[in-house]
Amino acid sequence: MLKIFLIAIIVGLFSSPIVFAEESIPDWVKTTAEFWIKGDVSDSEFIDALEFLIEQGVLTVPQSENIMQSSSSNNIQNSDRVLFTNVNIFDGKNNKLQQNMNVLVEGNKITKISSSTINSNSNTLVIEGNGKTLMPGLIDGHVHFAINHNYGVIENDKTLEDITIRSTLFAKHWLMDGYTTVRDAGGPVFGLKRAIDAGEVPGPRIFPSGAMISQTSGHGDFRALNDPHPTIEGVRAANWERMGIVAIADGRDEVLTQTRQNLMQGATQIKIMAGGGGSSKYDPIDTCQYTLDEIKAAVEAASDWNTYVMAHIFLPKCMDRAMDAGVKTFEHAFFIDEPTAKRISEEGVYLVSQMTGFSPEALNNPLLPSDKLYIIENFVNYQEEYAELVTKYDLKVVHQTDAVGEPEDAAKQIRYELYYRGELFGPFEALKQATSVAGEMMELSGPRNNYDGKLGVVEEGALADILLVDGNPLEDLSVLGANSKWFDAETPQEIQTINIIMKDGVIYKNSLN
Ligand SMILES: [Zn+2]
Repeated sequence: MLKIFLIAIIVGLFSSPIVFAEESIPDWVKTTAEFWIKGDVSDSEFIDALEFLIEQGVLTVPQSENIMQSSSSNNIQNSDRVLFTNVNIFDGKNNKLQQNMNVLVEGNKITKISSSTINSNSNTLVIEGNGKTLMPGLIDGHVHFAINHNYGVIENDKTLEDITIRSTLFAKHWLMDGYTTVRDAGGPVFGLKRAIDAGEVPGPRIFPSGAMISQTSGHGDFRALNDPHPTIEGVRAANWERMGIVAIADGRDEVLTQTRQNLMQGATQIKIMAGGGGSSKYDPIDTCQYTLDEIKAAVEAASDWNTYVMAHIFLPKCMDRAMDAGVKTFEHAFFIDEPTAKRISEEGVYLVSQMTGFSPEALNNPLLPSDKLYIIENFVNYQEEYAELVTKYDLKVVHQTDAVGEPEDAAKQIRYELYYRGELFGPFEALKQATSVAGEMMELSGPRNNYDGKLGVVEEGALADILLVDGNPLEDLSVLGANSKWFDAETPQEIQTINIIMKDGVIYKNSLN
């Protein structure tokens, strides 16, 4: 009885539960407590007695944890001025390291890069680079943080809350793998972006698209064959659509409405489905999707907002139509042929392809329906031609993973993607695709991009998104976690060779301490 009463009092006094071992409390303290309860001992005398016990280690007061902080990251360091000394810089553009450099970050920008000493003051956090590589944070040009379970599970067994909570884990995972910016190619992540930008949860900068806009029986139509149609029957049957992962819109008017709706929500660009795909049931791969006028409707509404349209697309004939309409980035785009490659180069369209799509390993992807596996077999045959055309026409290729599904599968895919790109293009091209070229693509969002500086490069004036890496990624991408195994890889662990991850001038990982 005395014990329960004491705990209640102690909690009241210290605003925190106190843990104690009753048998180790000396009798004089128990007596003090009894007299204090009766009012014969003053509060301060009683507190003195408790403090004595705390000093003796008999009572312990657990440190109160700020839940908001503890959920945000392991060891966030936010210093106004950070100086990296003696680093070798990969700037995102050049196939060489600048040796023995010093880099100053003030606020959220890189303000000075010099081979001479940069002075530090008492407010400067100095990080001794010791010859490690300083490079831009990585950029993933195509993710879906909200598609974080397998497709059927999302459709049948999950709510918006489930996928939203899990999307925070995806965001943290990408950041801890060194990705400081992502373009989200479809799904409800506007709130996640706001929370990350506000520093409430850790994650990369997000360029959200909102719901992927699809025609009826297009790549974003996830209804079953006998489900009602959103316009014809007036019922949004698919959970995917109700949660805002996809939106079915047909005809100029509906496409305009949905595009504007996405822009109102905060889309930095618009994602449309302009061709068939591998993961959905009722959109054959040989189909082009959306008429020229429907695509134009999306492009017009987006460009009125000074931004652009990205298109899920595979076939040259569909790419031609999309370029006629003014689409600026092609997602996946595996089947480019010579004339299309030439035009893509002339129009300056970005190719945002996940190279894992070409990998024979993709045949083991649990997300693909068995009747679509032949598509992957085709991709594999195309990869050489793709790589040749990219080189011949100097096409602007952007790194992307399209990693979705269960978190562990996605985590493995990210690292395999980096490995596979390195094999196909060599480490330098692969890195450029994940840094400076991707950063340049992000600028297409114009004023819809809320970040006030350059991404994907290490240069004076650029945003301070920085990795400090133990090793030279231009020679070996495994220092960034690249892994030659995909589905049979071990459960991904922390990448030990990425010592520092800084985003917007804030350090989210520092394993040098
Ligand atoms: Zn995608």
